[in-house]
Amino acid sequence: MSRTENVIRADYYEVLGVSRSASDQELKTAYRKLAMQYHPDRNPGNAEAEDKFKQCSEAYQVLADAEKRAAYDRYGHAGVSGVGGNGNPFAGMPDLGDIFGDLFGFNVGGGRKPSRVQKGRDVRFDKTIEFDEAVFGKEMEVFIRRMEACPDCRGMGSADGRGPSTCQQCQGHGQVRYQQGFFSIARTCNVCGGTGSVISDPCGTCRGDGRVQRDHKINVSVPAGVEEGTRIRYQGEGDAGRFGGPSGDLYIVLSVKAHQFFERDGNDLHCVLPVSFPQAALGAEVEIPTLEGATMLKIPEGTQSGKEFRLRAKGVPYLNERGRGDLIVQVAIQTPKKLTRIQKELLRQLGETLTVENTPTSRRLFDKVKEMFS
Ligand SMILES: [Zn+2]
Ligand SMILES: [Zn+2]
Repeated sequence: MSRTENVIRADYYEVLGVSRSASDQELKTAYRKLAMQYHPDRNPGNAEAEDKFKQCSEAYQVLADAEKRAAYDRYGHAGVSGVGGNGNPFAGMPDLGDIFGDLFGFNVGGGRKPSRVQKGRDVRFDKTIEFDEAVFGKEMEVFIRRMEACPDCRGMGSADGRGPSTCQQCQGHGQVRYQQGFFSIARTCNVCGGTGSVISDPCGTCRGDGRVQRDHKINVSVPAGVEEGTRIRYQGEGDAGRFGGPSGDLYIVLSVKAHQFFERDGNDLHCVLPVSFPQAALGAEVEIPTLEGATMLKIPEGTQSGKEFRLRAKGVPYLNERGRGDLIVQVAIQTPKKLTRIQKELLRQLGETLTVENTPTSRRLFDKVKEMFS
């Protein structure tokens, strides 16, 4: 004896909360509301909700069918005793696709047609380049691994080259419905994987995939002025699409190596220039590095540590634009560490001759301290 036979069945109209004279549209609206509320997908593990869902589905199944509704009105549950049994699982079931649309993934009747056609995926290729190559640009070759249309079946996937045929299991719908307890559930067809078609004699080279993995040479033109993380897009150079789908794109993602002297800030370059104390005090012409090689920079008399010199248009070219950034050279006065006895004596003598007048920074500090105590 099955469980349902022991249950005292509720009145179908009461279950749906409609009057006995409810129109088809009223029944549908009432059912939709309840079914959404109690749908197992929304109430996982809730036995009461599942029971309610079964009840309202059963009520709607009967009342939506004019013949069954008439029998129910006349004889009650006895008039529709076949409902809910395990005979033909889909007989008389309300069309859930029609009721829910795509809400719970019922893709039947008016839904999009399943298809094997797929766009190829985008391919990312990371490439590290030298600092100078990012600044001035570079032509290079890279080998990327990507999916390409199988040459033996010309992308069709089948040995005879005719391509896929309609799946017999799901009749091309991509989904099969089955009965679980009382309600009908749509599930992706496991024969065709939801594509609605199958390849009966797969190509030996690609095993029916229609594509094979290949290494492909791409000529990459890195423009001048790229920086860390710059992406170069090659449209249609990614994975091939499947069964006539378009190819994905290729993205070359650049990583730039650090430079020995220069630090980059957008299109400006920074570097630190070590200068001796006599050079800074007396002024000097010193050699500095630029991207184009060494050049001379004039340090004026009395240059302080930290002073910046800006060399116009000696920086990085603007990407896809005319002009360049600047090179900014910052002076760093070096304090000598290893001095001979004579050098120390000379410095001591120098120190005795230096007054606050000669050292502007300490004079300002000296004045501030005096202000504080006056
Ligand atoms: Zn093939
Ligand atoms: Zn199928």
